[in-house]
Amino acid sequence: MTKKQKTNQLPRKTTKVKIRSILVVFLASAIIYLLIIATGVLIVLSDYNKLGYNYSKIDTSAIFPDTDNNSDTTSPSDIAEKVFKSETLENILKEIDDKRQTDESSSGSSTGNTTSTGGYPSTILSCTRSGNDLLVLVNKQYKLPSSYAPSDLVPISNSGIRTTKSGLYVRNIMISDLKNMADTMKSAGIDVAALSAYRSYSTQQATYDYWVAYNGGDTAAADTISARPGHSQHQLGTAVDFTSNEISDQLGQQFGNTSAGQWLAQHSWKYGFVLSFPSGWEQETGFSYEPWHYRYIGKDNASEWHASGMILELWLRTKN
Ligand SMILES: [Zn+2]
Repeated sequence: MTKKQKTNQLPRKTTKVKIRSILVVFLASAIIYLLIIATGVLIVLSDYNKLGYNYSKIDTSAIFPDTDNNSDTTSPSDIAEKVFKSETLENILKEIDDKRQTDESSSGSSTGNTTSTGGYPSTILSCTRSGNDLLVLVNKQYKLPSSYAPSDLVPISNSGIRTTKSGLYVRNIMISDLKNMADTMKSAGIDVAALSAYRSYSTQQATYDYWVAYNGGDTAAADTISARPGHSQHQLGTAVDFTSNEISDQLGQQFGNTSAGQWLAQHSWKYGFVLSFPSGWEQETGFSYEPWHYRYIGKDNASEWHASGMILELWLRTKN
């Protein structure tokens, strides 16, 4: 008996029913599969919208576990790992906000200089001072070594300042001055909070790589929205991004109009903190106006800086 004959012996109805049920199962699986993919796409799209337009509503602590325990037993490498995990998303969110603001204000940017705000010089040099030195110049030309990480990182909450999230670290050397400043502001009825602090070289690398990939490998586009690793003052552990409940703890240029932003611009130097990227000096600093970003250089240095009447970038160039 041949194979064909064997098949033909099966009742026609049974064969039809079998084929039909196989088709039904196949189609049902395909539909379920497509529904799962469509749901995934919708979730990604809705998250993307949140990132771009309403990211302050995202609770990053729900994504990353609480890393801020004030324990002194944590080793520096543990801290670096925790900071890396908790800061990567935060940093990306900040850069999205920066990019949005840059896009919004790009029509008013200054011209007449060959270097754009986002550009890097062709020659990149190593920092002339150690990363531990409060006066080290770090900018788009002077780069910190990838191996540099502060050895005295502690939770910024040790200063008593309010924070918008856990897992923020700064150098212990600035805690007491930060505490005095935060206490003074509190006494004056001004709310201030820390939103971002230390970022490791790895964090900056991951963020920069993300933006290069986001821009299809276009590094020039990535440079306008993210600092290259080694070029961020946040790697020093002495830079802090501030915010206030006056602007619902968001990060943005509106901070400059809050009482906290105005108080800091006027008084923070007395506590050792200096605004790094002032308005109108974008060509010199290489960064857009960031009223929220302060760098700690110590009280004595800040007094000398204040007397000079210069912006921090140009004053530090005279020291490096
Ligand atoms: Zn900053």
